[in-house]
Amino acid sequence: MRKATVAIVGRPNVGKSTLFNKIVGTRVSIVDDTPGVTRDRIYMEAEWTGRRFMLIDTGGIEPATDDEILKGMRTQAEIAIERADCVILMTNIHEGLTAADADVAAMLMKAGKPTVLAVNKVDSGGQPPMDFYEFYNLGLGDPVAISSTHGLGVGDLLDEVFAKIPEELFQENEDDSGSLRVAIVGKPNAGKSSLVNQILGEERVIVSDVAGTTRDAVDTSFEKDGKTYTLVDTAGMRKRGKVDEGIERYSVLRSLSAVDNCDVCVIVVDANEGISEQDSKIAGYAHEKGKASIIAVNKWDLIEKDTNTMKQFREKVNLELGFMLYAPQIYISALTGQRVGKLFELINFVHEQNSMRIKTGMLNDVLGEATMKVQPPSDKGKRLKIYYMTQASTCPPTFVVFVNDKELMHFSYLRYLENQIRGVFGLEGTPVRFIVRERK
Ligand code: GDP
Ligand code: GDP
Repeated sequence: MRKATVAIVGRPNVGKSTLFNKIVGTRVSIVDDTPGVTRDRIYMEAEWTGRRFMLIDTGGIEPATDDEILKGMRTQAEIAIERADCVILMTNIHEGLTAADADVAAMLMKAGKPTVLAVNKVDSGGQPPMDFYEFYNLGLGDPVAISSTHGLGVGDLLDEVFAKIPEELFQENEDDSGSLRVAIVGKPNAGKSSLVNQILGEERVIVSDVAGTTRDAVDTSFEKDGKTYTLVDTAGMRKRGKVDEGIERYSVLRSLSAVDNCDVCVIVVDANEGISEQDSKIAGYAHEKGKASIIAVNKWDLIEKDTNTMKQFREKVNLELGFMLYAPQIYISALTGQRVGKLFELINFVHEQNSMRIKTGMLNDVLGEATMKVQPPSDKGKRLKIYYMTQASTCPPTFVVFVNDKELMHFSYLRYLENQIRGVFGLEGTPVRFIVRERK
């Protein structure tokens, strides 16, 4: 279930972002009107020699002094130790080795973290210059000379990295443990830890703190009403995390990777503050990744209520997270435990919806009625014909629509079909996808 993860660590300007972009490519998926986490390129999926993995760029803080550089790099290394299976420590040939590089190399070694040393900006190819050999002093084994801008040596670098990651992390085997993986995500202080503690306080924890093979992020499994659940990435929640949650970039990163590794995503929102930009980023990512989602409005105990308060809040959330109107909202208090039991009913419910399989016959009955009610669009005298529709996969439900001419299919008509399908089958809490195919 968990994907292999690689982090790039290094001083400002050594070329981390350039390498990141080289590896993930320039593909940027922009899915209708969801907030653009994919444009904020700190955490993205990549592929090399048929293996998929997640890549983290730990950079992004702009330090002014040498002291700050070291502090920033230590934070990066902590994130890498917590998040990644292998680290690329990046330096560059122009600036040579610095004390900060040595400090961070020592940190990574002490943590036993598999690390590959990359020396960037060796643009000429061929034999590396003499200065290159200085990098052996870090004690990280053979450095790899690369040029991120020209793409030189990047393949060799990734080969080295992959050699240090257990092969099974590249296999996309479904989690067959029968455990439902739940991610509790949201911004700092929304009440995630309190919610996790509230949940675990009541239940018998069966496997606690199962650490990943080479990283510190931990999941916690427990049993409730005869079912097994796993709370994803509870490391920083049960006790304070090592990395300062206050650094927004990193608290987002933590939530995004939890989303990647879950079946159901509980987005915890602070009722006092409403939906923040960070909340929409996380929600947008869950949407793009096709996850089942629930919006849990927390600290509801603190809100002064009259008969309309919840309704008004619902409308506000719908407005802010308009791309996710399918997600149920639940109003909870992690502190008092109010509706936390109900939250579990919802978790199971949205998971079922996300896994729903609809028979082709039933789907086409809906399609027939839908096209009768509202004709498919036409352009220059040619009308879209929809022959039939079938569900190709689940999690999220994905429908293949066979048509006479793809160009004639409008986004708005797909929206309409989606609504018709939802009207009949529900599909609450899950995004749905359409693939339009031509059949002559
Ligand atoms: P970051 O701060 O570590 O993310 O560094 P950037 O990726 O932003 O790169 C810093 C600067 O170095 C930019 O001007 C890049 O164009 C340049 N740069 C990055 N990689 C290379 C390289 O392989 N060769 C050369 N000559 N310049 C590079
Ligand atoms: P996290 O950073 O998202 O893990 O948030 P915490 O669980 O650490 O909570 C942040 C603060 O909000 C703490 O002081 C909690 O006691 C408080 N808090 C969390 N949930 C609730 C709630 O439902 N009601 C109230 N009144 N306070 C809460």
